[in-house]
Amino acid sequence: METKQFKAESKRLLDMMINSIYTHKEIFLRELISNASDAIDKLYFKSLTDTSVGMNKSDFAIDLAVDKDKRTLTVSDNGIGMTEDELENNLGTIANSGSFAFKKENDLGDDVDIIGQFGVGFYSTFMVAKEVTVETKAYGSDKAFMWKSNGVDGYTVEPCEKQTVGTTITLYLKEDTDDEKYSRFIDPMQIQSLVKKYSDYIRFPIRMEMEHTHYHDDNEEPEVHKAVEILNSMTPIWKKNKNELKEEDYNNFYVEKFYDYEPPITHIHSKAEGLATYDALLYIPARAPFDYYSKDYEKGLQLYSSGVMIMDKCADLLPDYFSFVKGVVDSEDLSLNISRELLQHDRQLKIIEKNLEKAIKNELKKLMKSDREKYEKFYKVFGLQFKFGIYQSYGAANEMLQDLLMFPSSFEGKNVTLDEYVERMKEDQKDIYYACGESKERIEMLPQLEKVKEKGYEVLYCTQDIDEFALKVLLRYKDKQFKSISDADLDLDTEEEKEQAKKLDEENKDMFTFMQQAISDKVKTVRLSKKLKSHPVCLSSDGGPISIEMEKVLNAMPQNNGEKVKAEKALEINPEHPIFAKLKELFESDKDKLTQYTKLLYDQALLIEGMSIDDPVEFANLVCGLMC
Ligand code: ADP
Ligand code: MG
Repeated sequence: METKQFKAESKRLLDMMINSIYTHKEIFLRELISNASDAIDKLYFKSLTDTSVGMNKSDFAIDLAVDKDKRTLTVSDNGIGMTEDELENNLGTIANSGSFAFKKENDLGDDVDIIGQFGVGFYSTFMVAKEVTVETKAYGSDKAFMWKSNGVDGYTVEPCEKQTVGTTITLYLKEDTDDEKYSRFIDPMQIQSLVKKYSDYIRFPIRMEMEHTHYHDDNEEPEVHKAVEILNSMTPIWKKNKNELKEEDYNNFYVEKFYDYEPPITHIHSKAEGLATYDALLYIPARAPFDYYSKDYEKGLQLYSSGVMIMDKCADLLPDYFSFVKGVVDSEDLSLNISRELLQHDRQLKIIEKNLEKAIKNELKKLMKSDREKYEKFYKVFGLQFKFGIYQSYGAANEMLQDLLMFPSSFEGKNVTLDEYVERMKEDQKDIYYACGESKERIEMLPQLEKVKEKGYEVLYCTQDIDEFALKVLLRYKDKQFKSISDADLDLDTEEEKEQAKKLDEENKDMFTFMQQAISDKVKTVRLSKKLKSHPVCLSSDGGPISIEMEKVLNAMPQNNGEKVKAEKALEINPEHPIFAKLKELFESDKDKLTQYTKLLYDQALLIEGMSIDDPVEFANLVCGLMC
């Protein structure tokens, strides 16, 4: 009998498989089962239109069997089978197989992990078998053939005896070594758990004879029962209809599948047809996994292609700001053998991602409306993600995320959404005001807050470092601009007040110039304040891209390696405060003292802002000078 050689590129893949040190060699079983399922699919579809096939859906099955003495594992199906030519073409060459994608990826570097992540097809059997036979009889043919190979020396094809249509694949397992126990693949219990893990949702039954030993109380011999069992559950929960499922079913699946001990906050079950066909079942967890805020956390959804798991964590299906979402996506549009690199460019996958993103957003918005308490609980755990999302996407995610944001506010101390804020804005109010500080208490001490509150305007409290960065990217909401109460020009006054302030500013211009020069390395301007009510001074940002709050945050970051950023600041003096008259008096009579007062006022303003003063000793001396 003639031994035929594999095509060159098949040989390369085979070499890799035979010498694979990959630790999840078990995936060969998933490959064989999915091939069997594909073959059954083909005959099943035929049977739908062609009654001469003579098969019902319930007749189809995949049978597994082990032989401990011969060290063989057999996978049989009653699918469409292969003709002699098909045997040659399908198993002798890689050309038609999706494994082609694998080869392509492999050219980019030896990434063994892709063996596990993606289908690598029939040849993966050579990771565990020293010899493989394929006996097959094609539908419509009366001849059967056997393909046989040890992977190294090519293959043979010869006629064989086979009664029924379909394919039987037999693996002669390699000998056990210290590192690798191939005999686990002849242990029915282990095979059962592999089927559960990788092929649970194959829609045809996967059967195997299982042994159960019954022990008796007395010393009688234990009884061994043998029975054929179906190993897979066939219909995954996400393929079922929503009206068949109860909240409890959804929650049980979640807790089991994603190893959480708390039920999720909510789930999203969506089925789509059209541009992309898929079923998705997503969950929003109630708590963050312990490693959520660490580098170890891997986002992603479990990806299935027609019931076969092809990827445990498909990161491309979730944007970072929804990285907390767990779930599964099952699509017939995706090929089992798609490589990771190709997957990233897959149009279908992109469409699915976009759809899911919208579904998640809508579900969260719905939750916000229907169960505010639940949403707030969720927001407390994951809301930070949205702010980072806005900041990191430079505005691209604004639309998606802005309605999910919440901030505590000056009104009732409760969380308010941007929509709620805008809804209840005062008639004469132009902007959305926010204030930054490390806590609500700290913010409420800010001198600038007083006047805004007096106007009856609501102020958002930004207590997280990222807050102001996110708002600066957001820029506006429903055409209203965000304005920090520490901004240079808050524009709170009437025309008349403005006129008066301008006059006062002019009159005291020389004094302000003098004061600015006394602390010229610290502030850009000294000026009258329009936003202070009872406090004497405050610092405000004097234009420039970095606000005072951002200066604090940026300088506290470790990666800033010592380089300090600086906001452009203005020292603002309250003309209503008695200190103002005092300053004017000193400008006429005692310039030295005015210098000291200016330094003191600046230090005070720093302290109120929650920043540290540059020279505490000088500050103490100045205060003592006044006291003595
Ligand atoms: P893929 O499944 O991506 O096509 P494989 O290497 O797994 O790649 O299989 C190669 C080809 O061999 C399949 O496309 C199919 O035509 C054929 N084949 C494999 N197993 C079977 C089977 N059990 N029944 C019928 N055809 C099969
Ligand atoms: Mg395959």
